[in-house]
Amino acid sequence: MKTPAAEMPASAHLDRVKLRAELLKWYMQHKRDLPWRDTNDAYCVWVSEIMLQQTRASVVADHYRVFIQRFPTVKALAEAHEQEVLARWSGLGYYNRARNLHKAAKFIVAELKGVLPKSAAELRRLPGIGSYTSAAIASIVHNEPVAVVDGNVERVIARLTGLEVDKKSKSKRAIEAVAQELVERREPGDFNQAMMELGATVCVPRNPPCRNCPIASHCVTRGEHKTAPRAAMTSMDVSYALATRLRYELKKGKGKRWRRRIAAGGAADTTRGR
Ligand code: SF4
Repeated sequence: MKTPAAEMPASAHLDRVKLRAELLKWYMQHKRDLPWRDTNDAYCVWVSEIMLQQTRASVVADHYRVFIQRFPTVKALAEAHEQEVLARWSGLGYYNRARNLHKAAKFIVAELKGVLPKSAAELRRLPGIGSYTSAAIASIVHNEPVAVVDGNVERVIARLTGLEVDKKSKSKRAIEAVAQELVERREPGDFNQAMMELGATVCVPRNPPCRNCPIASHCVTRGEHKTAPRAAMTSMDVSYALATRLRYELKKGKGKRWRRRIAAGGAADTTRGR
């Protein structure tokens, strides 16, 4: 007996094998040259994924290099003072990410012999690691076939299938289910990165250039699909700096001279809302 069209799963029309092959081929040819793509070291991938949570890849690239240079291992990060970690996070904003990263590094060194957990489920127990980040680390580093569903992937799948994206958990679950069906079993890390890359560079929120899309032949909407409006964002331009507090004393006497004296070291938080 045939399944009525209305009851067909949203992904029924997708030729998964062909779609995966086309997407991976495109990714290998067009992926941006980003520093964290040169490694599958769990610590480096973790740092990059935390930085990428709320910040564009182009902004993250330079900060990532500097951060990894200063804290090349989870042990180096765990042993650092929080003020320095925050200072090295300067320019990325959302400082709770850095605090949680530091807290988790201390836990990994103290309780897990300095080794990051391997599975997505175990990674989620660490501070600051949710389903998106745990899936990214586990799939990229350990080939666990778990789908990463960030905002970009959500949009690609909604357009591929015609599923509505809204804030309801039912619609989110439907998107996640398709993402999990699609994920490549042998190269899940590359597949996840390819989906995110497609959403970031081709299947963009407005007027996607569908003629350049490697999986256009599978897409039921070709961009003619309303995706949920972006949530209003409060943009914060925050910078931490290791500050040297300077105290100036006016010396009395002939002429007015300023004597500069180093009073103390500390961290300054300059936060500007926009
Ligand atoms: S064809 Fe267009 S809308 Fe469909 S997935 Fe590709 S870029 Fe997105």
